[in-house]
Amino acid sequence: MACIIDGKRISAEIREKLKIDIANLKTERGIVPSLAVVIVGDDPASRVYVNNKKRACDEIGIMSYEFALPCDTSQAELLSLIDELNRRADVNGILVQMPLPAHINESSVIERINPIKDVDAFHEINVGKLMTGNFNFLPCTPAGIVRLLDESNIDIAGKHCVIISRSNIVGKPLAMLMLHRDATVTICHSKTSNLAEICRTADILVSAVGRANFITSDMVAPGTVVIDVGINRGGDGKIRGDVDFENVKQVTSYITPVPGGVGPMTICMLMHNAVTAALLQSGD
Ligand code: NAP
Repeated sequence: MACIIDGKRISAEIREKLKIDIANLKTERGIVPSLAVVIVGDDPASRVYVNNKKRACDEIGIMSYEFALPCDTSQAELLSLIDELNRRADVNGILVQMPLPAHINESSVIERINPIKDVDAFHEINVGKLMTGNFNFLPCTPAGIVRLLDESNIDIAGKHCVIISRSNIVGKPLAMLMLHRDATVTICHSKTSNLAEICRTADILVSAVGRANFITSDMVAPGTVVIDVGINRGGDGKIRGDVDFENVKQVTSYITPVPGGVGPMTICMLMHNAVTAALLQSGD
């Protein structure tokens, strides 16, 4: 029977430490980290994510500014807001909530953000820095996954890590992070042959597919660590991960639940990046 990795508890402990660091920064150096969150349109899921991020900022003492733009905002208008936020000395981090409406080119928006304020670490400069290991910011979900493993005292070096995803926000950056931590990494995707067979060779299996019950117990070898990144809303309104949790947890050594696993860590790492941005901009 698996040990359940409690992302809610671990993230609460990290946020508590961040809160103390932020209070010290304010009293000792007059630095108050700040984050601008930009949302375009009225996608309900995006609204929930933005509210969660703002609440997390409020709780630990990060100043947050919200820019809610109508869904018919033009690309030029959005880029001009990014330019303004890049210039503003009172804005340390800029986060544009994805997805954007179809008429806006997401990559041109990401590339417009000053890399030193790019707290999502999606800008090509920050992607390149992750490749070389010379990074300021780590992308939030992959950083949260590695932190969950570390906080659970799970060794990464020398382990075979199988990642089901080659997305720019999860699979590719996580693969790079795990490589930096001396894992042997296999990346799988929708064209991978023998997926179940590969999964059974994993010491650490990460699924970020976005399909409920995608990982079944026959795909997991006894003792595997299973990290479930998926967020899938069922017909009953409940959130589920990619993993058939009840059956898979009988086989694994460690497993993350959904909700309460990777999700809370993602926001926590965003807060961490906002503090890093403030320090970088203060000259540290
Ligand atoms: P995405 O861009 O659609 O990527 C999904 C990946 O899964 C792709 O690489 C895709 O392969 C692969 N895939 C799809 N069907 C497959 C199959 N049958 N066999 C093997 N691989 C398959 O999605 P995303 O934005 O990365 O998000 C993935 C999931 O993670 C979603 O549920 C999302 O909500 C969740 N998520 C959670 C957090 C969090 O904080 N917990 C953060 C980010 C994302 P191809 O490349 O070949 O299409």
